[in-house]
Amino acid sequence: RNGFKKETFILSVDVGTTSIRCHVYDKEAKIRGSCTTKVVLLYPEVGRVEMDPDALWKGFIDVVKGAVQDAGVQMRQIEALGISTQRGTFTTWDKKTGVPFHNFISWQDQRAADLVKSWNRSCTMKAIHGVMKVVYFLTRQKRSLAASLIVFSTQHVTFRLVWVLTHYKQVAVAEGNCVFGTIDTWLLFKLTKGHVHATDFSNASSTGIFDSYQMCWSGFLCSLVSLPLSIFPTVENTGHDFGSTDVSIFGVSIPIMSMADQQAAMFGECCFDVGDVKITMGTGTFMDINTGSKPHTSVAGLYPLVGWKIGPEVVYLAEGNAADTGTAIKWAQELELFSDVQETSAMAYSVSDADGVCFVPSFSGLQAPLNDPKACASLMGLKPSTTKSHLVRAILESVAFRNKQLYETMLRETRIPVTRIRVDGGVSANDFVMQLTADLFGRKVARPQHHEMSCLGAAFVAGLGVGFWRTREELKKLQNTDEVFLPKGSSKEDAGGSLNREYIPVLQSWERALRRSMNWYS
Ligand code: ADP
Repeated sequence: RNGFKKETFILSVDVGTTSIRCHVYDKEAKIRGSCTTKVVLLYPEVGRVEMDPDALWKGFIDVVKGAVQDAGVQMRQIEALGISTQRGTFTTWDKKTGVPFHNFISWQDQRAADLVKSWNRSCTMKAIHGVMKVVYFLTRQKRSLAASLIVFSTQHVTFRLVWVLTHYKQVAVAEGNCVFGTIDTWLLFKLTKGHVHATDFSNASSTGIFDSYQMCWSGFLCSLVSLPLSIFPTVENTGHDFGSTDVSIFGVSIPIMSMADQQAAMFGECCFDVGDVKITMGTGTFMDINTGSKPHTSVAGLYPLVGWKIGPEVVYLAEGNAADTGTAIKWAQELELFSDVQETSAMAYSVSDADGVCFVPSFSGLQAPLNDPKACASLMGLKPSTTKSHLVRAILESVAFRNKQLYETMLRETRIPVTRIRVDGGVSANDFVMQLTADLFGRKVARPQHHEMSCLGAAFVAGLGVGFWRTREELKKLQNTDEVFLPKGSSKEDAGGSLNREYIPVLQSWERALRRSMNWYS
């Protein structure tokens, strides 16, 4: 009427490990409506972590409907949908019936730990790396995936999928009908009523089975560990018209314009330039540096990932991670060290130190740079004088200490000058962790007000795809004002990377505790 056109929005869903959240974004990237639901993790056996695919699907639908209702808008006002997901969590299903063969196997699952360890130590891998080093030395050409995978990890899909194919008879029996998918692929398959079996480059690159150098599933790796290439989805750009939601699901058909791994947080943080760093501290910590148009090879367990591919542009990241960040906080809460996570920062500040207590956050092993899936979580140095506040402080310190370890590994291995450091994820709400991280880095660390950056990143990519937003400059201007943490004793943004000296002995004890926790479950 009178040419009045209804306001439109971008809808974005982030499937995390603790929750699925959906936000409705307007043109100013302001959240107009939201809905969240908890993810139920299943622990069928020690070391196994799963999710029910049907429960996840239901949760996804519920948050989309809930957020649109919360925004007080109609489904037809949604211009596009973006999806970001936790990575490395997968299932396999029957492509004809769409019925999953088993639960999602989480990135935290340790069932393949023995396989990973024996492969890492195998003569085959040693021989491959030897050959790759010689080839690299002689030709100075880019290394292929084999060289970058010096260390396999349980967080990669590779050996959990090998495990599934050997242990679940129904998967092997399905043969030609069996398809594989990470959470994004499964959701896309369901949303399009089985018409599309695809993923994007960012999701594919974090499975461990994708060759980020050649930009295709790695035939070499698949034949090495006997995975059938036929079960993998088509890989598309991160910003791509993946298809539209079937009308029967939301009453209208909504174009799915982006699918991304949590690298989407990098896009949400507008870390578009080489040297930009972001640290996502959620269930786990993921530290990424933008390495530009070239993938980065690492020997310490940093992984070369595709950040995003939009049009012809590919942006690579080098990533290091620590699996147990929020997990450690959640554990402490279940132990009733505190009742509300909001209290933890003040509790840590209420004592001058952790009373010599060291916490090793390693429920799922230690990742880069130590790469020990057999390390145990531990609390060391307990005394009769140790209080709950000391324990909380030790746990929060361990999160910042892991940040420091990852940061140093990243600097050492990439040699790329860091331009800026931005932090997001649930644990970034913790001032103590933020300040200690800045102190240990000797660098300014910035926290955006809105910390759900993966969701915003997926929304940004989807919005650019449909012309809702036009340029990256426009996106940068939409950034909320940051809160800034400067290194202690420095009014400067950059204390030259020098470590706050009072923490040196604490860090040294913590490193001793780390070493003692290693190879525990041998
Ligand atoms: P994910 O995306 O992996 O699901 P989130 O980014 O939502 O995770 O972060 C959830 C984690 O953040 C939870 O473990 C929660 O305990 C933790 N968390 C939230 N607020 C705080 C806080 N103020 N201090 C410490 N941890 C927090």
